[in-house]
Amino acid sequence: MPSTVERIDCVVIGAGVVGLACARALARAGREVIIVEAGERFGGGISSRNSEVVHAGLYYPPGSLKASLCVRGRELLYHYCAQRGIAHRRCGKLVVATDAAQENRLREIAARAAANGVDDLRWLDADAAQRLEPALRCSAALLSPSTGIVDSHALMLALLGDAEAAGALLALNTPVDAGEVVTDGIHLHTGGTAPLRILARCVVNAAGLGAPALAARIDGLAAEHVPPAHFAKGNYFALQGRAPFTRLVYPVPEEAGLGVHLTLDLQGRARFGPDVEWLDLPPDARDLDYRVTEQRAAAFYGEIRRYWPALPDGALVPDYSGIRPKICGPQDPAADFRIDGAARHGVSGLVNLFGIESPGLTAALAIAENVVEIVAERAHAA
Ligand SMILES: Cc1cc2nc3c(=O)[nH]c(=O)nc-3n(C[C@H](O)[C@H](O)[C@H](O)COP(=O)(O)OP(=O)(O)OC[C@H]3O[C@@H](n4cnc5c(N)ncnc54)[C@H](O)[C@@H]3O)c2cc1C
Repeated sequence: MPSTVERIDCVVIGAGVVGLACARALARAGREVIIVEAGERFGGGISSRNSEVVHAGLYYPPGSLKASLCVRGRELLYHYCAQRGIAHRRCGKLVVATDAAQENRLREIAARAAANGVDDLRWLDADAAQRLEPALRCSAALLSPSTGIVDSHALMLALLGDAEAAGALLALNTPVDAGEVVTDGIHLHTGGTAPLRILARCVVNAAGLGAPALAARIDGLAAEHVPPAHFAKGNYFALQGRAPFTRLVYPVPEEAGLGVHLTLDLQGRARFGPDVEWLDLPPDARDLDYRVTEQRAAAFYGEIRRYWPALPDGALVPDYSGIRPKICGPQDPAADFRIDGAARHGVSGLVNLFGIESPGLTAALAIAENVVEIVAERAHAA
């Protein structure tokens, strides 16, 4: 146990896309920043296990953080990618209905998107959709031209580079084990090979799947401000052979996820997923099982053939998986992002980021703006 206490202005816990974006924004706002990451590399968590889609902001309830931060984050992200030469492509996406009931859902999505400020959607009838994507079968579709894909690793590398250029430091292999609210900040105890005791004026808990468990270990934060942690795995299957579409293709969304959709990577390879597999794990689960089992393919074939009947037998091979950091369970209504500052929990200087599932990659730069504002309020109040 180290006896000296390092005094730091801001500690960002977690070097995923959200923590890195926050660290960059704080450092560029003139704050002293250390990013502490449990893993041996940055970006090894949820941020490297997702669809890499830049979402337009169609689905989220108007007025929610997910809606506003997705729309704002998307524009910031495209601008940042262009400025920093990060590989990305505004390939567009089709949300497809395959029967009359789904067409009604599609109309609801269009109305919701308009309320979220997404004003570039186009309604396509079956023929128009098929002219764009000849392999597609649907009764109607919505075209979202501003949806795209991004190289998430290149994005994180650029964010880290900017943060470091503005003076931030990254400490790898540095898990935060516990914290304690004291009069002049928050004490953090880290483990790993070189344990530290840090006294931070501001702490941003961007620990992804581990954020609720970590918050629960901060002495002085009332338990009622820590949401439950639920884990919903999303499995992907890669398509062997040529991609049948040039745009992303999504069915109308299902509960807890966006349905088994087709995404493309920047090399043009196609994959399907993610599905939704709820895991029964304790909040501080460490050894997460990311294996994708062949048996799950059967359900994929059925769902995909609703909009791509020509999917050949045997064309899907297990690929990777990711785990959604849910703060609502399978029976609960979908939860919004939570960016909890002192106004919510009363602990000055602490910002907890909970439930940062999709569209967290898209929204990361906007989440960071929000966090800088909360931290600045604290600095002004001090
Ligand atoms: C299957 C799936 C598909 C998705 N698809 C998309 C998409 O297409 N588009 C989109 O916009 N979003 C998507 N998302 C959401 C997006 O990936 C996440 O919102 C985003 O990556 C979250 O980033 P993060 O930095 O919060 O978490 P992470 O990337 O998990 O980073 C958290 C970091 O904290 C570290 N950590 C944890 N505990 C501690 C501790 N105690 N001390 C120190 N460090 C700690 C972890 O090691 C990790 O590196 C998807 C998510 C999933 C699961």
